Amino acid sequence: MQFNALTAHELHDKLVKKEVSSAEITEAVFKRIDDVEEKVRSLVTQTRDKAMKKAGEVDAKIGRGEAIGPLEGIPVVIKDNMCTEGVLTTCSSKMLHNFVPPYNATVVEKLNRAGAVIIGKANMDEFAMGSSTENSRFFITRNPWDTERVPGGSSGGSAAAVAADETIYSLGSDTGGSIRQPASFCGVVGLKPTYGAVSRYGLIAFASSLDQIGPFTKDVRDCAQVFSTIAGHDPKDSTSAEFAVPDYTSVLSGSVRDLKIGIPREYFVEGTAPKIKELINNAINKFTELGAVCEETSLPHTEYALPVYYIIAPAEASSNLARYDGVRYGYRDELAEDIVTMYRRTRSEGFGTEVKRRIMLGTYALSSGYYDAYYLKALKVRTLIKQDFDKAFEKYDILISPTSPTPAFKFGEKADDPMQMYLTDVFTISVNLAGIPGITLPCGFVDGLPVGLQLMGRPFGEGDLFKAAYAFEQNTGFHLNKPKL
Ligand code: GLN
Repeated sequence: MQFNALTAHELHDKLVKKEVSSAEITEAVFKRIDDVEEKVRSLVTQTRDKAMKKAGEVDAKIGRGEAIGPLEGIPVVIKDNMCTEGVLTTCSSKMLHNFVPPYNATVVEKLNRAGAVIIGKANMDEFAMGSSTENSRFFITRNPWDTERVPGGSSGGSAAAVAADETIYSLGSDTGGSIRQPASFCGVVGLKPTYGAVSRYGLIAFASSLDQIGPFTKDVRDCAQVFSTIAGHDPKDSTSAEFAVPDYTSVLSGSVRDLKIGIPREYFVEGTAPKIKELINNAINKFTELGAVCEETSLPHTEYALPVYYIIAPAEASSNLARYDGVRYGYRDELAEDIVTMYRRTRSEGFGTEVKRRIMLGTYALSSGYYDAYYLKALKVRTLIKQDFDKAFEKYDILISPTSPTPAFKFGEKADDPMQMYLTDVFTISVNLAGIPGITLPCGFVDGLPVGLQLMGRPFGEGDLFKAAYAFEQNTGFHLNKPKL
């Protein structure tokens, strides 16, 4: 039995029945890492000793006959932009190559309290800017389904680690698609929660009005479980919402008979691979067959989402990244003779090309004279995009679309053309701008590469997403396919 290939809920059952120990599961995961990590390279840091110690504690608890929680004793990987006390947190940047946070992100704290076994930190595009993980300053991560191809990004390491069975689940962050796009490229489940549903405390900020943390899992049940564990109000994050967090696994009935599903026509225009459109149409037929009502609808401002995002996200990034000056922590050019030179050299050497591009774009959009024309205009159009969704959700419980217009692309294919890279996020960005939840799950394959189906929901409508996703998954089984490494 390869324990590393199982889901958290399957492993939980085995732990409770004493068919396996947390130490055995954790060892299985590290054995797998030893076997395939050379090919995949999903991890920036491994925390073996801490992980084995934690697993031992959980096993001792089980040995004493105490009850354990659903994620207790189960291995998890954390994207390297979430602070882990005493463990390197780099954002895959030279700027933070030596940064060891003195505190935990709230999500890490919550997982610790839930008894999770943190096994390592995942590679990513530097500061979460990118769609392929090629922007990591350390190394590239490879797609387990085809190691000549990207895993997607920016949470490419988190996605690849789950797909390669190097971990049971992982956490990523999603500002414009960074959970959903890599999840779809790697054939796993990924959730971008409602803005404010999960605390951002300790998440290294990219674009604060868009960033959300969410899970990568091997099936929908695990996704619902992890979300139930990390969601909820946090006094340390003033944008986190006060809401009662239910046990989301209780909605997994397998039925979609009471759901009305809208199909936004703007997500089925040219530019999407015909084979992907076909798979999404199959999915729509499946939902109809299962008793859901599916109807075409419209989100008329969709075409503005990409330009609006590439004003707002860089604007917020230029402000957030101003703190990296070489003074208090992180990289510093030690040889500079005066402070201005130190700032300049630290920032020119510490940040990579894409991060600098974003800082320049954002600084430009916010500068006096351009603020009204770009930033303010973008905020107004963002409201129109949000209103499109509000209107659609008066009639529909969820909306359905492809997650990405193409399957995983090859290394270097888009790396030199930022515009081509930005276009890979056309279907994911609106969800962040509107602050609503979006989930992706496997819906088939094109030329051996996994394809994701995206479901979008009302604010705090994660329950509907899990319900629909679970029914689809259980009636299709695409999630059961594994890459051959
Ligand atoms: N690919 C998008 C970008 O480069 C989204 C990244 C993200 O969601 N963190 O900004």
